[in-house]
Amino acid sequence: SKEIGRDALQFFTAEMASSAHEKLRYQEELRRAIAREEFVLHYQPQMDLKTGHIFAVEALIRWNHPERGLLMPGDFISFAEDTGLIGQIGDWTLRAACRQNKAWRDAGLPPVVVSVNVSARQFQEPEWVERVASALRKSGLEARYLELELTESVIMADVQQAVALMHRLEALGVHLAIDDFGTGYSSLSALKRFPVDRLKIDRSFVQDLPDDPDDAAIARAIISLAHTLQLKVIAEGVETREQLEFLRGAGCDEIQGYYLSKPVRAEGIETLLRIPNI
Ligand code: C2E
Ligand code: CA
Ligand code: CA
Ligand code: CA
Repeated sequence: SKEIGRDALQFFTAEMASSAHEKLRYQEELRRAIAREEFVLHYQPQMDLKTGHIFAVEALIRWNHPERGLLMPGDFISFAEDTGLIGQIGDWTLRAACRQNKAWRDAGLPPVVVSVNVSARQFQEPEWVERVASALRKSGLEARYLELELTESVIMADVQQAVALMHRLEALGVHLAIDDFGTGYSSLSALKRFPVDRLKIDRSFVQDLPDDPDDAAIARAIISLAHTLQLKVIAEGVETREQLEFLRGAGCDEIQGYYLSKPVRAEGIETLLRIPNI
């Protein structure tokens, strides 16, 4: 057993070293990616269920890695958050999304809001509102064509501060949405104080619709809550006609998901926007 113990220890330390080494290398790669702007945004359309119009697109980041290929946010966002590199990546995302939407505006396409994900680290930086303002100014995009998606956990970390920040963002004229709604635990009293425009029903409550009675009840409850607070409500992760019909019947305002379109490159959105109705 001594033998095993020593082997295990050797294994353990070697593993630690290599993983620390790996981490450092990955961090270097990410720094290089920021400097070389190896990122690309894909966009996923959001549709108004009443009119059938695409009224917004969510910007979703991908890392075009020179050797590893196209990496998804799950491969690097939490790492970027842990290493503090998310601030620079977030700035890039914000600027790129605003620039792209301005280009669509200038091309005369039907106007859409571009929705950008915000991580906790970004939201905690005091000068962040100025970064948003600067991205708008530099791109020339009107604030009402930008929406920021905040998760409940981002907000609930410090409600007081979050509400203050949200009011400053509201004053800029940007829209605010609460992402992954229902997975965190914002209290109703807190929710009432948030100057947000929409709630996004998390995909986990959508995927088993319409058959799962619990999820059906939760979806209905979120829709009714949103409407009571005079907010729009959008369901994410809609993959089937049946889910869409259930949500429409339950009074949901908007949907996003593979049923409509996967996230696509900017050119794909241009094509979609030229179709008057889906
Ligand atoms: P999210 O904000 O909840 O984004 C929705 C995710 O669900 C996206 O994954 C999207 O591709 C996927 N999705 C959309 N419709 C469907 C569907 O019908 N079925 C299924 N199964 N999936 C669907 P993606 O692009 O891999 O992004 C994952 C997460 O990474 C995002 O979740 C968001 O939290 C984060 N993320 C993405 N881009 C950024 C960014 O620019 N900044 C930050 N901070 N986070 C980002
Ligand atoms: Ca989102
Ligand atoms: Ca507002
Ligand atoms: Ca989400």
